[in-house]
Amino acid sequence: MAYTPLTESMPKARKVHICDTCGLEIKKGEIHHRFDGIYDGEFHTSREHIKCHEITKNWEEWEFEDNDPSEFRELYLEVAK
Ligand SMILES: [Zn+2]
Repeated sequence: MAYTPLTESMPKARKVHICDTCGLEIKKGEIHHRFDGIYDGEFHTSREHIKCHEITKNWEEWEFEDNDPSEFRELYLEVAK
């Protein structure tokens, strides 16, 4: 597995997306965090809620690969307390 990050941006969603980290909806019109990069030779875009990005911004690549959205939602609730 090789991931090369290219750009990060904070666009407004033009349609509903699914957050790659927590697996929940990013609503239309919601500002979210977008990463573009090359993943195993393929162009890949991933999107996260701003809140999810705050939690994952210091994660290592393997932590993203091991991430389970249902476990992440529990972690998210811990952090949100
Ligand atoms: Zn999320």
